[in-house]
This record gives sequence, C-alpha cells and structure tokens, in this order.
Amino acid sequence: MELSRPSFDALHTPQRILLAPGPTNLPPAVSQALIAPLLGHMDPAFLQIMDETKALLRYVFQTTNELTIALPATGGAGMEAAIANVIEPGDRAVIIVAGVFGERMAEIAGRCGADVDRIEVEWGRAAELEAIESALQRKAKVVGLVHGETSTGVEQPLAGIAQVAHDHEALFLVDTVATLGGVAVPVDALGIDVCYSGGQKCLSAPPGLSPITFSTQAVESIKGRRQKVQSWYLDVSLLEQYWTETGARVYHHTAPVLMVYALREACRLVAEEGLEARVARHARCASALRTGLQAMGLQVFAQEPYRLDTVTGVLVPEGVNDAAVRGRLLEEFGIEIAGGLGAYRGRMWRVGMMGYSCSEANVLLFLAALGKILNEEGYRNGGGVEAATVALR
Ligand SMILES: *Cc1c(COP(=O)(O)O)cnc(C)c1O
Repeated sequence: MELSRPSFDALHTPQRILLAPGPTNLPPAVSQALIAPLLGHMDPAFLQIMDETKALLRYVFQTTNELTIALPATGGAGMEAAIANVIEPGDRAVIIVAGVFGERMAEIAGRCGADVDRIEVEWGRAAELEAIESALQRKAKVVGLVHGETSTGVEQPLAGIAQVAHDHEALFLVDTVATLGGVAVPVDALGIDVCYSGGQKCLSAPPGLSPITFSTQAVESIKGRRQKVQSWYLDVSLLEQYWTETGARVYHHTAPVLMVYALREACRLVAEEGLEARVARHARCASALRTGLQAMGLQVFAQEPYRLDTVTGVLVPEGVNDAAVRGRLLEEFGIEIAGGLGAYRGRMWRVGMMGYSCSEANVLLFLAALGKILNEEGYRNGGGVEAATVALR
C-alpha cells in the first residue's frame, strides 16, 4: 500500500536578519548566482568558473598555494580533510583546545589515530606562544588551532607560531572558518601550511562549501604518506585531479555547481571591496557592537585584547531567560543570534558580525531591539544605541 500523499503549500521562508555566527544574509549577487542556469560539472564553461574560483580563493587566503580548492561540504569537512590528509596513525598532534571547535579538532585528530597533545586554554582566553613551544619539545607532525573560536568569541593570535612549528619540523594547521573574509588571514605571510574555512561565515556564501589551501610543505608531507588517507572522499590528492587548472580533469564527485557559482560571486565581492577595507569594516562594526553592549551593562565574554571581531560572546545577565530573549528577537524583529555552547548554554549570547550581515545598520538595529526586549524582560538598561552611534562617528 502506498503511504498517504503529503500536501504542503509551496515553499515559503521568512525574511531574517542573520546575526548568528553563520550563516549570514546573502548579498544580491550571490542570491542571483544560485538561480543561474545549471551546468554540468565537466562542462568547460563550469571548469572555467572553477578556475576563477581558485584564483579568487588564493586572493582571499592571500596565498600562492597551488593546492587551493573548495571541498564539497561545510566547514566541518574542512577540519576533517585538513587533519585526515596530514595525520597518519601514531603521529603526534599538538592541538590548542580553547573552546568547542578546538575540542572538535582534537577529537578528529584522535579519530585519525593521532597521539593528541592538548594545550588546554581557559574559555575566553588565547594560548601563549611559550605553551606551544614547550609542547613541541617532543616531535610532532602538526600544530593545530582555531583562529576565531566561535564558542567564546576569542581570536587566537597567529604571529610567531609558524616559526616555532617549522623550527620543530611540524606543520601549522589553522581553522579560519569564522575569520576568513572578516579578519586578516594572510596564509603565506603567516606561514600557515594547512588552512580551511567555510562559505557561510564571513564570505557570505550559502553553507555547503569549504575552501581549503595546502602549502608546498604540506603537499610534500602528504605525498610522503606511508598509508593512504582513510577518507576517499576527502583525499586531497584525488580532489586535486578534479580541481586542477593544468592537467586533464578527472571526475571525482558531481560538484555542487550552484554552490560554486555562489562562492565565486561571494569571493569576487571580497576582491571588489578589498580585503583591507573588508577587515576594517568588521573591526569598526564589532567595536561599536561591544561598546553598545557594555553601555547596556552587559559583559563581553572574551578577555582583552583577544576579542574576535566577527563573533561577540556576551553573558546573559542574571535573571534573564536566554531562550525567551532570543525567541523574541526572532519573532518580533526577525533577528537571529545564537546561544552559548557547552558549559555556556543558556548563559551566553553569540552575535555574529560577518560578511554581508556586518553593517552599521545591523549593529544599531540589534542593539535597539535587544535593549527594548531586555527592558521588557525586567533588565533595566539604556544607552546602547547612543554609545554605539558615538563609536561609529
Ligand atoms: C562554524 C565553524 C566550524 C564548522 O563549520 P560548519 O560549516 O558548521 O561545518 C568549524 N570551526 C569554526 C571555528 C566554526 O565557527
């Protein structure tokens, strides 16, 4: 017997102002790309779009790395691919764990058979260079860390780490899912060997692709593996043969063609704005947001001077119900922000200022909406918008 036939209205999605740490609102050019005619994944016209996307990704990552591609999945796949390609069972991996995403990196390294050496960092803080250097006194294959820790709103400083890693013959692996396109990530200048990101955060593409880049040293290391990468789908040596600009293309997977169009457009907009201007926009909006929140008496979670511009974690004030406030922001203003993760579930709000969602208008609108709701929920406050306005002068 046939199951009963479902009957729904045609798809309807509400308009939202997306201020969680991803996804963000889409720039019109990116939305347009998603309704462009579909091409086959081996069509020369599409292959050219892939080549352009690679060139744009190299600009966004500030790298000349040949192996620079977009994995056909979200940022988490970037993390899996980065670790799985570099680590072989028994390799030692030094991983900085300063929040949920560092924790996930350590977990993935463990699943890949690494002997994981965790550098534990209190939430809200960043790791010290000395701690990394001392962990490297024992030989390690890789030092891995998260640049923008989305669960805490902390930016981990990257300067100097590559030098220390390379002095000890370790590769430097960095998660820039929450930072690429919002905070400067000059991959070559920083000496990063493996760097991945996600489309839906500061690049403002839809979720579904994960840009990733490998240095010559990382590629050499992968070529010298004793065993094959355990994951066939995320083996970059195979993916490279589909994304190659020079050799004959070998089918690997049916590319998410529309997502590639969208990522191309998103990265083209980054180039059009210019990285420097884009990073300055994020810094300016984030600073105004923090100023406004603090004027309302709220406490920004991350310690100075490690506050991340693209994600602000702020503590839920005593006596205020986290879910009620976020529910009202969504219902009454169409604004989405995120709640806390791990131990901070129910105790933190995480506000994204990323890509296309990062604007002065959104800072002021969010502060006004939050201020109104908090007043009605019994948390007396005022002056958030005014303080932010002054900061934006
Ligand atoms: C969002 C995020 C991820 C995971 O990306 P998905 O696209 O959700 O798979 C990984 N690392 C960081 C720092 C993130 O913010």
